Amino acid sequence: MSQVTVTLPDGSGRSVPAGTAVREVAMAVSPRLASAALAAYVDDRLVDLTYPLTADARVRIVTEQTPEALALYRHSTAHLLAAALTALFPNAQCGIGPATDEGFFYDFIVDRPFVPEDLAAIEGKMKELAARDLPYERQLWPREEALAFFGDRGEALKVQLIEEKTEGQSHVSVYTIKDRDTFVDFCVGPHVPSTARLKAFTLLTTSNAYWKGDAKNAPMQRIYGTAFFSDKDLKAHLARIEQAKLRDHRKLGRDLGLFMFHQWAPGTAFWLGKGTVLYQTLANYMREVLYPAGYVEVKTPLIFNKALWETSGHWQHYRSNMFLVKSEDDQEMGVKAMNCPGHMLVFASQGRSYRDLPLRLHEQTPLHRNEASGVLSGLTRVRQFSQDDAHCFVREDQIGEEVERLLRLVQRVYRDFGLVPEMKLSTRPAEFLGEIATWDHAESELKRALEAVGEQYTLNEGDGAFYGPKIDFDVTDAIGRKWQCATIQLDYQIPQRFDLKYIGADNTEHRPVVIHRAIFGSFERFIAMLIEHYAGAFPLWLAPVQVAVLPIADRHADYARATVKRLVTAGLRAELDERQEKIGYKIREAQLQKIPYMLVTGDREAAEGTVAVRTRAGGDQGARPVDEFIAAALDETRARAQEGQPGTPSLAHN
Ligand SMILES: [Zn+2]
Ligand SMILES: [Zn+2]
Repeated sequence: MSQVTVTLPDGSGRSVPAGTAVREVAMAVSPRLASAALAAYVDDRLVDLTYPLTADARVRIVTEQTPEALALYRHSTAHLLAAALTALFPNAQCGIGPATDEGFFYDFIVDRPFVPEDLAAIEGKMKELAARDLPYERQLWPREEALAFFGDRGEALKVQLIEEKTEGQSHVSVYTIKDRDTFVDFCVGPHVPSTARLKAFTLLTTSNAYWKGDAKNAPMQRIYGTAFFSDKDLKAHLARIEQAKLRDHRKLGRDLGLFMFHQWAPGTAFWLGKGTVLYQTLANYMREVLYPAGYVEVKTPLIFNKALWETSGHWQHYRSNMFLVKSEDDQEMGVKAMNCPGHMLVFASQGRSYRDLPLRLHEQTPLHRNEASGVLSGLTRVRQFSQDDAHCFVREDQIGEEVERLLRLVQRVYRDFGLVPEMKLSTRPAEFLGEIATWDHAESELKRALEAVGEQYTLNEGDGAFYGPKIDFDVTDAIGRKWQCATIQLDYQIPQRFDLKYIGADNTEHRPVVIHRAIFGSFERFIAMLIEHYAGAFPLWLAPVQVAVLPIADRHADYARATVKRLVTAGLRAELDERQEKIGYKIREAQLQKIPYMLVTGDREAAEGTVAVRTRAGGDQGARPVDEFIAAALDETRARAQEGQPGTPSLAHN
């Protein structure tokens, strides 16, 4: 029998008979590795442990410690779900069951929507199948046989998948759990070796879905679940889901009176009084940051003739996401979905010299995108939003310096919110426009800038846009979820499309480079993140109402009113609660509204010119002169999140 040579990650080689399964290689290294093995990389391909080695290859065993293992494990759990479900609902048709960042799902066509008792029964069946330690087996079937098999079983969706995904192949891979009577699925794999390896999983919810996500296709029921390598990790994840529910910005937005929605304006928030204060506080904060940094704020039209969108390329590639309208003289117009094209017109509106650059245009006007109604959700998937958008027009030789300034700006802004951004650099993709030398120069400038500001960053090779490299920023919120907010995107194409020019020091025409950048991203999404990050308990500088003044009885109302006036005059956002309610009730209400400070005023306070200070966390700070409270609160407002912990202002820490 012929031999093949296997090279292990430590560089050592082993000779094994051709056809040896990967599992045997793990066993030869150590029985411990074999029992920890979930799958393997053969050369760079992820395969099952049963994969036969037919040629010389590099082999790396995948265990729980391998970063990619969790997705494979979760996808295997989705198969287990399908096996349990088809055992209980023999008429069910299986769709697809991928792993996700949070777990997995599987879509089914069933006779009736699932109810919570179904989930409990299916999960019970999954546990039973897991305990039986049934093998996942990969089989190669002749394509025609597979099509006939799934066709006979009435699994039209699988037939469709096989037809679409395996055109021209003689054989297709199917997976069984135990055997084809127990469960069989068309899948490329790989999977864990047996059901007993799936130790910690649970089903979470169901939702409506459509085959291939298209409402024109068959309606399906989606079951969501999650899986982890240990019960401890699963429990921690479930606790995080509970936390996330309590922090859901859609719920808090309603409870705190920040915003509302109405069916007649889907995906577009109505900012209520308190929400508008929050929104404007952020908008003005951004102006405070950007004006001294050399930005010019502009307000460009919301509706443009389609000629603009044709020039920018959006008409060809993005029209279906835009709201289109007709003008009185029958011109086709598009509501702007981004500010860039308008800013190009501003740049081109006058002659520019190299001395004018960098030119930085900032704009906060609303943008509209015609998102599908099915995907709209709270403030995170909307049809109308505003960005803290800007376009920096720079000379080629200014890229590095401008990006370095931008990185420092991003660092500074996020520090004010007590957030630490993680940076990701995405470089030239396989399909790109422009010269390689230009790309190389830009990428090396971006790397230099990242190093200059002392940031660790991850490199996403080949993940840039076709028109230029970019830097993205993720922030992790208080319960460990990642949000993508800021972005810095270089663009060599849009200046060409708009034929932008400046006169260089050499008196000839040059093309500027455009940097698209946003620091919050969209205000809507950033506010959703802040609400969930702070669980609605905003730091003092952001709180829509900063201070509630609570008179104990009617006879204290005049003093309370005078106190509110002093607070407001000093620049604090204060509210008076003069309802005829018990003081304990008023305090609880203010706490539920997450108002940072409550000032209780009674006989003693009125006589002494003080206020009894309480914090929303329930801390009693005792009586203080009004002026002293005002000075301390203003200090805290100015400090933002720089001192103290995020969400727990320095005065209100107890
Ligand atoms: Zn699979
Ligand atoms: Zn842009």
